[in-house]
This record gives sequence, structure tokens and C-alpha cells, in this order.
Amino acid sequence: MIIDCHGHYTTAPPQHEQWRHQQIEAHSKSGQAPPRPSMSDDEIRQTIAGGQLRVQRERGTDLTIFSPRAAGMGHHLGDASTSQAWASACNELIHRVCKLFPRNFIGAGMLPQSPGVSPRNCIAELDRCVNEYGFVGVNLNPDPSGGYWTDPPLSDSYWYPVYEKLVELGVPAMIHVSHACNPAYHTTGSHYLNGDTTAFMQLMTSTVFRDFPDLKLIIPHGGGAVPYHWGRFRGLAQVMKLPDLREHLLKNIFFDTCVYHLPGQELLAKVIPVDNILFASEMIGAVPGVDPETGHNFDDTKRYVDQLPLSAADKAKIFEGNARRVFGRLTHQIERQSAMEPAGARS
Ligand SMILES: [Zn+2]
Repeated sequence: MIIDCHGHYTTAPPQHEQWRHQQIEAHSKSGQAPPRPSMSDDEIRQTIAGGQLRVQRERGTDLTIFSPRAAGMGHHLGDASTSQAWASACNELIHRVCKLFPRNFIGAGMLPQSPGVSPRNCIAELDRCVNEYGFVGVNLNPDPSGGYWTDPPLSDSYWYPVYEKLVELGVPAMIHVSHACNPAYHTTGSHYLNGDTTAFMQLMTSTVFRDFPDLKLIIPHGGGAVPYHWGRFRGLAQVMKLPDLREHLLKNIFFDTCVYHLPGQELLAKVIPVDNILFASEMIGAVPGVDPETGHNFDDTKRYVDQLPLSAADKAKIFEGNARRVFGRLTHQIERQSAMEPAGARS
């Protein structure tokens, strides 16, 4: 089985995002958001059948761990209550996709974060995602301010309520920023990669994994700059008298393969142990085009992994085994959803 651990619902029916605009506009005028829009199963089905499901089939992947659009989380907009309503709407929509396509999509949630608001306020939604919706993971935004980094670093006990709950539920978090509102950053070109790199360094200089030895975090987009600069991080660890990074971090931190060219993927697999790499493509996402040098989509990352000089057993770890290990509830949820009849299926 080929499991893509990083996909977002970038093709949701337009009324979903329209409601978000209305909600934020109403909030700015101290008014009430309108009622949530209705979306039929058929509308949702069409956006998936012509989108992510089509791409799965074209590329020969089987299952996507599917979460709300990351740039759309917009935790810097509105306040804690608008974030709560928006996270709830987004997660419910992901749950509907998973019910319509139970063999192809398993959910991961977004959290109702808001800058300056304790992430303790995310616990109820996290619990609902896992226990009611059967989601197997969640995206955790290390910078809800959208590029100003006004909240404490991930090393701070500020975040511990979320870590405690993740460990209790046995689900990992993907560390994933959202839209950048700081004009210095391009959302997917620099803010995402900065977020990945910054999170790694915050965790490296922390006692988070001593305090939560079972916590598992995925750093997406190939780990930002981390694998490319692995020598710098190892050298800094030496200066700071930290343990060897494999011992210090790699029981808890994993990287995905959302690196959009073969040389980058080769470097990732050369530097980072195979046990810490999870297959992902983030299709249909920020880089949807075709690479004129290869004639294939930049985000068709399976092609790069296929070409790596690794054994079949190691590739199986990247494509499937590691995801099942890191997402502790995944195997059970695959069995559960495999037994489901797709919602609204016509006989
Ligand atoms: Zn993403």
C-alpha cells in the first residue's frame, strides 16, 4: 500500500471558503457570521473524483491522510471563537470526504489556534477529531500569528497541553504553518520552509522529548532546510553539548518527502535515516505544474522515491511502514474504513 501522509482539501466547494470570508468580514464589523453553507454529497464527491482521487489513480498511490487546506487555516484572522467555528467547519468537511471515500482518504484535523490564546483551547476539537471522526493526526501551527512568531516557541510549556493530549490519544502532529500575513514572507515559498526549519531548531534546544518520550511530530516539506544543513545542526548540537541528534530527536521527529525534485529527495534519503522518512506529495497543492526538465508534475514525488538507490524493503518503509508506525491509529482506521460502505453510495 502506498500511503501519502500529507494532503489537503485544496479543491473544496467554493461556498466553503466564501463562508470563511463572510465570517471574517462579519467579525471585523462585530456582527454575526451567516449560517454555514450547505454542500451536497455530490458536490463534494465531484471535487474529489476530479481532483485528489484522480491524481491518486494516475500516480498509483492508495491512501491520503487528508486535512483542511493549510494556508486556509488562517489562525491570525479573527479571534479564538472564529478559529473555533472555522476549524469545526473544516474538520467536519474532511470527515465527510472520508465517509464518501473511506478507502482513499483518512482524516487529519486542524486546530482552532489563535495568536496569544493558550493552545489548551484546542483540546476539545482535537479530541473530537480523533474520537468522533476517526482522524489519525492533526496539524499544529507553530506560528498562529502568520509570520510574526509572537507566541512562545514549541519548546515552551505553553504547548504542553497539546503534547499531553496527542500522547494520550496516540496521534502525531504535523508541524504546519498557515498563510503568511507578514509581507516579508511568501506563504509556500519561504514561510512554510522557515516554519519547518524553525520548529526543528526550537525542538532541538528543548526538553520536549524528554518530557514526552512518546510524542511524534512530522516536519513536512522534506524538513525545510534541515536535511540540507544537517552538518550545521549536528555541529550546533555539539557546541551546545546536546546528545547526538539521532538519539536526541529522531525517535520523535519524522520528515516527509514533499521535496519537488530528485536531487533533493536523494539528499533527504542519504542524510536522514530511512525509518524517519514518510512518503508524501501534498498534491494538489502549492506547486501543481509540470517540470519541463522531466515532463512530470513537480509534486509527483512517488517518481523520485521510486528512483532512490534503496532496497525494496526500505522503500516499503517510506511508502507504508513508517506511516503505520508514526500514525499509531492508522492501521486500525484503515481496517475500520475498509469495512465501510461509502456514504451515499448508489447500488
Ligand atoms: Zn501541507
